[in-house]
Amino acid sequence: MKSISLDSKLPTIGKSIFTVMSNLAKTHGAINLSQGFPDFQCDPALTELVGKYIRKGMNQYVQSNGLPVLRERISVMVKELYGADYDPESEITITSGATEALFCAISAVVREGDEVILLEPVYDSYVPVIELNGGRPVFVTLEAPDFKVNWENLKKHINSRTRLIMINTPHNPTGTVLSGEDMLELQKIVRSNKIFIISDEVYEHIIFDRQAHQGVVRYPELAAQSFIISSFGKTFHTTGWKVGYCLAPEVLSREFRKIHQFVTFSTSTPFQYAFAEYMQDSSRITGLGTFYQERRDYFRKAIKGSRFGILPCNGTYFQLLDYSMISEENDLEFAKRITSEHKVASIPLSPFYHNGSKERILRFCFAKEHGTLDKAAGILNKL
Ligand code: PMP
Repeated sequence: MKSISLDSKLPTIGKSIFTVMSNLAKTHGAINLSQGFPDFQCDPALTELVGKYIRKGMNQYVQSNGLPVLRERISVMVKELYGADYDPESEITITSGATEALFCAISAVVREGDEVILLEPVYDSYVPVIELNGGRPVFVTLEAPDFKVNWENLKKHINSRTRLIMINTPHNPTGTVLSGEDMLELQKIVRSNKIFIISDEVYEHIIFDRQAHQGVVRYPELAAQSFIISSFGKTFHTTGWKVGYCLAPEVLSREFRKIHQFVTFSTSTPFQYAFAEYMQDSSRITGLGTFYQERRDYFRKAIKGSRFGILPCNGTYFQLLDYSMISEENDLEFAKRITSEHKVASIPLSPFYHNGSKERILRFCFAKEHGTLDKAAGILNKL
């Protein structure tokens, strides 16, 4: 169709690496360990509940801020797990996935000319939203192989224009986890100035080796200036249902909700009812770390004999593998070649950096059936 031209507001943004690699996997019939979603089904009890609520007629809009009973359940969960009090009425908002919550939170705080500190490798949805709001991303690089935050270095990037720091723990793509000391450092840094925090905690329950998730809600001073974002997609193996939420003090939630109501108004009703009922059994959440730890260990054991270097993985369902013993190609070339020639798709790390990366590291998603992991390992072991 004929069209007039449109000056792009995001001229540098093309297809995301997840789309590129998933399409390539499809074209070549490759095992897809690229995009972060399970290849197994969620609990049938949960799909039953969705069906039940659809049949019961819960098919119209709910309150813009989210179904009250679901907000109530989240409040109870946050209290039980982390000892924090969030008022379901004024401090918890249900969103259409964490992606929408990130959009609303960034839009609520970032103004023209504001600087936002990001830790790279960084999840790909943050920068475009910062830029749409006229903000400027400022990158602090996490160094391989442990990708720990150097807080002294981060402090050097703070100035009078710094409006927001974004963190993500457990971290996609590296699988690192912020410690209690990290959170106290961050708290010290932002205490004396009005810098907001957005904490992307969508993998909060996928944390391994008996570590406790050090979420922002455990640190009341930090929580006072933070938006905390999570997602039922990761927690209940339902990424396609797109239900997430944001915790924030009332004053911050008020601004967040002004934007949320004009992005989606409300999130899908039957799914909210289903999650609210399903969450009554708290073991469905607390067992998740053990569930994925088993997959992590299974995958790591299966590729032990390969020439890949296996990096630490403390949380998330991603395993980083260093291929420098196998090839000198850059990560995008190598990832594309093993997809087309050897039929295993992964995600290169360089698109998570604003200037690319020279590391020879790929990200593999192990939220897959054992059979899928076996097949992928069989191939990776031969490279
Ligand atoms: N943040 C991170 C770090 C993620 O990995 C993802 C999903 N890949 C999201 C946010 C988005 O979550 P949702 O699917 O709930 O929008």
